[in-house]
Order: sequence, then structure tokens, then C-alpha cells
Amino acid sequence: AEARTDLGSTIAYWAEARPDGVALDDGSVRITYRELDGLVDRYARAFAGAGLQPGDRIAWLGKNANLYFVLLVAASRAGLAMVPVGWRLAVPEVRYILSDTGAAMLVCQSACAGLAAAASEGLDTLRFALVEGDSDVGAMTSLEAWTAAQPHGDLPEADPDRGVLQLYTSGTTGNPKGAVLCNRNMFALRPIIEASDVDWYKISSDDSMLVIMPVAHIAGSGVGTIAFYNGCRAMIRAEFSPDAVLDCVADGVTHIFLVPTALQMVVNHPRAASTDWSPLKLVMYGAAPIPLELLRQCMQTMGADFCQQYGMTETTGTFCALPPEDHDPAGNERMRSAGKALPGVEIRIVDGGGNPVPNGTIGEIATRSPLNMVGYWRNEAKTRETVDADGWLRTGDAAYMDDDGYVFIQDRVKDMIISGGENVYPAEVENAIFGHPDVLEVAVIGIPDDKWGEAVKAVVVPKPGHEVDPASVIAWARERIAPFKTPKSIDVIPEMPRNATGKILRRSLREPYWQGRERQVG
Ligand code: ATP
Ligand code: MG
Repeated sequence: AEARTDLGSTIAYWAEARPDGVALDDGSVRITYRELDGLVDRYARAFAGAGLQPGDRIAWLGKNANLYFVLLVAASRAGLAMVPVGWRLAVPEVRYILSDTGAAMLVCQSACAGLAAAASEGLDTLRFALVEGDSDVGAMTSLEAWTAAQPHGDLPEADPDRGVLQLYTSGTTGNPKGAVLCNRNMFALRPIIEASDVDWYKISSDDSMLVIMPVAHIAGSGVGTIAFYNGCRAMIRAEFSPDAVLDCVADGVTHIFLVPTALQMVVNHPRAASTDWSPLKLVMYGAAPIPLELLRQCMQTMGADFCQQYGMTETTGTFCALPPEDHDPAGNERMRSAGKALPGVEIRIVDGGGNPVPNGTIGEIATRSPLNMVGYWRNEAKTRETVDADGWLRTGDAAYMDDDGYVFIQDRVKDMIISGGENVYPAEVENAIFGHPDVLEVAVIGIPDDKWGEAVKAVVVPKPGHEVDPASVIAWARERIAPFKTPKSIDVIPEMPRNATGKILRRSLREPYWQGRERQVG
């Protein structure tokens, strides 16, 4: 294969070009590109020797680890796809993913062996369950011992269109869907990042990129891949903590990607003020909306360039970004935007029928580019519902675009409330309530209403030691937003239902109110 068009050839390329450059660094073990190439070859040949066929799936159940990335590249060379599964998921959730995938093999870390055993019990598609490390756990064998025992198999031709990474969506709006990404998807960003006229990312092979968001999400696996094709050091950290991020800054990390809640924890950490942030070149953030105040605070404290990333699992991550030059410390209007299309990416805002709407009008974001997934795994109907015959992918996000092509996200289409014929975006109502002195968290939903069709309801979690008076929350909102957007009722609950990514599950909050009734969306 041509150099650096897929994961396998990329590692081979750097093994020659920068043999002693560090590819993977988990804080204690460093693996150079030459060593990585050797490890990858060993695992790829064992997979092939064991009879795994191109197109087979290997599931990974564990925290972020050097080994995960070794196996991902080995899977690519052996024509297999990796399916990293979130280790924070519950047994039925892991089971759902393992059976949907039909994985031929499951590799788990010792710490997840119990979860893996319970979730895979009786799954007849699973041919091997292996555990990382030397000791056997229950009926599982050690990956090391297994690998050593396999005959060396022949490797297939690289096929850039074959699935190499199957990631499940976060499950915010429904059951997680298995998005199949191929090497062509994973490498579509390369010319964009390398293009000299768009220097938003400023990456060279001397850089170090932090992989601390979970590899079961594109924010983890995607960032690791970007590090590889640039020949960087990927700093792999098992799981997020503000201390781990600050330690990596001290260790010379140049590029980080964090979700807004993680950034908030880092910037408010007692060590943040005395940290020397100078090695840090770029802070990428995204996956959820960021409050403007938080963004300004981070810019002030960290001093690096900032670049917002908007994307989804189905688009191999970012397809739209707010470049560093639009980040103004004073907080201009553009900083409320999720940015504009990356070069080579088309974005348009469409109505329910898929037709473009004028600038300034709210519709659904649709996108077309080589980043768009191959499809949902074994779900042709859902794929066709999401990607049309011309290749336009519907994101499920509502937004408008300004005359300069900047996208302003409102909310999820599925969460939009239609009350008395008016569209209400929960995010706007939540932002209005957010500053209330007794409110820690708020989620806004539509509930059935005979008069209005749907009525706006706010569900709030009080700050510790505070009591929430519903009338005062309604009055607070009324001063800030139009009457039709103001909640008609307030529920007070002790804790928000969230998925493993930390996103609030509005569908769980809605459920008790909609039992037996069909909710119209979009
Ligand atoms: P599911 O598809 O299973 O309901 P999900 O959509 O949360 O879950 P992901 O693919 O992890 O799964 O998340 C993509 C979504 O995250 C986008 O559709 C968008 O709603 C949100 N998102 C991503 N980046 C941003 C951003 N920069 N600003 C606001 N929202 C964002
Ligand atoms: Mg989604």
C-alpha cells in the first residue's frame, strides 16, 4: 500500500522515517515507532494465523492503553475491525454491543474481566475471550500466551474502504449505533491538517498529543490516529483526571482534546494557576456545547491556541471547527458558533424534506465529505435514513448558518419542543435558568399538553444545601426569555440521568410523561 494511507502502512512509514521517535507513551512505558511496527506485525500475523478473516471484529474492553492502539493498527494490517467498548457501561449495555457486533474475539483488561465475562456469557459468536497480562482470569486466556501459540498467518492486501474501527454512538438519543469507519475515513483529515493554507492544528512530528478521552469514543481513538499519521508521540492516559492532564503539561504535551466538563475541572483545579502552560500549543474542545464564560476562562489561564471541534461518531469526529483566529479574549459573537466546514467538507442546513434553507434560518445540519462513515453496522435501514443517495449525512442537530458559513448549533432536533406551534430549543431555556442561585443543573423537556401540544418543563437539581422554589425558577426564566419558552412547570430531582459520556439523557426524563403516547419530533 502507498505510505500513510492506512494505519498499517503509516506505522511502517514512521518506523523507517523516525525509528526512535516515541509513538506511544502511557506515562511509564514508551514504545518507539520501530518497536510499534514489530509489535503490530506480531499481533497481525497471530490474528491471521488463528483463522480470523478480513471483516471479523475484535472487541476491546478496557481503559485507554498502549496495547489498545497496538491492536488497532494490527487489526488494520490483518483486515479486521476493532470495536472498543466503554468500560463504564453496565453489563446489559456491553452485552448489547458485543452481540450487535458479533465479535469474533474479545480482549479485556484484567480489571474489566468480570464485566467481560458477565456480558459475553453464552454469546456463541465470540470465539476467543482474552485478557491483557500474564495471568489467566477465570476461563479467559492471556493474550500474550495465546499470541505466542498461534502459527504465523499471511496478511491480506490493505483495503482503505474496509471497516477498521467500529465505534458505538453515545446513546444520547436512543440505543447506541455501531458506526463503521474505514481507513479512508480515518485518513481523510490528513490533507486538511497538512494543508499549508489552513494551519489551525499546527502539528508536526515533534509534537505530543494527549489521548485521555475514552478510546471507545472518536475523541479518544481519533486523536490517537491523528498522532500516528503525523508521527507524533501519543500520550495515552488510562482515564481522565485533572491531575493527569496537568502532569502531561509538565511532561511537554503540545496538543490536547478535552470535552467541556473536563476542561472545567482542569481550569478550576488548584494546580492550574501555578502551572507553566508554555509547552501547550493547541487546546481542542468539543463533543458538547461549551459555555462562553468557561471558554474565556480557559483561554486566559492556558494561553494556548484554541480550536473548537464539532462532529460526531458517524463523521469520524470533527467536520466543522472554530479556528484559533476566531477566539477573541473579549468573547465576540462568533465564539458562540461551532465554527465552519473544514476544507473538503460540505455543510448545509436543511428542512425536514432535506432541502437547503436560507442563511439565518434554523434547520438540520447535513454534511458530505470523505469523513462520512461507511454506514451503521448491520443496519441498512438506519443507514439509509441517515445518509441519502447523494452522500449527505443528517446530523440530528438543529442550527442556522450565517453569511460567512459559521454554524450556530441550537440543540438536537429530537429534543426540540413544539409548544402552541412555536419551536422551543431546550438549550436556550436551560441557559436562561442556569444562573439561578439555587440551581446546580437543569434539563428542559417537552411533556404532553392538551392545549399546547407540548408544554415546556424544566427539571432541576438543587445546589448542595439549597432548596428550589419552582415559582422563583419560573420567574427567573420569565425575565430572560419569551413567555412561550418559559417553563410551565418545574420538577426537582436529586441527580441527572446521564450516559457513560456524561451527556444528560433527556429521553429518560421525558419517559414517565409519555408512557403509551407517541411523541412527534422534528
Ligand atoms: P446518539 O447518536 O447515540 O444519540 P450522540 O449523538 O451523543 O449519541 P456522539 O456521536 O458521541 O453520540 O455525539 C455527537 C453529537 O455531539 C453531535 O450530534 C452533537 O449533538 C454533539 N456535539 C459534538 N460536538 C459539539 C460541539 N462542538 N458543540 C455542540 N454539540 C456538539
Ligand atoms: Mg448522534
